[in-house]
Amino acid sequence: MDKKLKIKEGLMLPVMEAFYTIQGEGMHAGNPAYFLRLGGCDVGCVWCDVKESWEAEKWPVLGIEEIVDQALIYPGRMIVITGGEPLMYNLDPLTALLKERGFTIHIETSGAHPFSGNFDWVCFSPKKFKAPHPSIYTKADELKVVIFHKSDFEFAEKHAALVNKACKKLLQPEWSKSTQMLEGIINYVKNHPDWKISLQTHKFMDIP
Ligand code: SF4
Repeated sequence: MDKKLKIKEGLMLPVMEAFYTIQGEGMHAGNPAYFLRLGGCDVGCVWCDVKESWEAEKWPVLGIEEIVDQALIYPGRMIVITGGEPLMYNLDPLTALLKERGFTIHIETSGAHPFSGNFDWVCFSPKKFKAPHPSIYTKADELKVVIFHKSDFEFAEKHAALVNKACKKLLQPEWSKSTQMLEGIINYVKNHPDWKISLQTHKFMDIP
């Protein structure tokens, strides 16, 4: 089978980077986790802090066995699949193999592509720059909306109306706008107590 077909089937994936660290944000902040950052994203957020991930072709393509073997080196068994936009790929084979090897599997996605894979936790972070695919709404365990501008509160509520009732709802200040946006977020959450604040604690700790 050639490489292109293997990528299409999710047997090989472009890996921008993979590292063992502490999950800094969202409902699982503070937990040790192995981050797998897949290359490739067509969402185009203006404030994206991993723009180098956008071109998938720049990154080495690895077989899923090799990806999982590298994750197994570390003691933690929580893996966070992120990007780029990881749902650009069929994640069924990778997540099946990770499950077989005993991992708890999380994903962080904009939901801009059809859902695939089997996860223990789905963090859905919709972006204004490319509409989510409808398949994400029933899968999301956590809705995490980045607040860059005050119009983002309305955007957050629009998506909150579409997720499951049990889905956790978080507002996170965009890092470069933190100082301007934080007060508004604090007030919003105090007045809308079904929301929580998520901070990028890894940036405060200066870890990846
Ligand atoms: S979805 Fe994520 S990786 Fe893609 S442009 Fe937006 S912030 Fe960057």
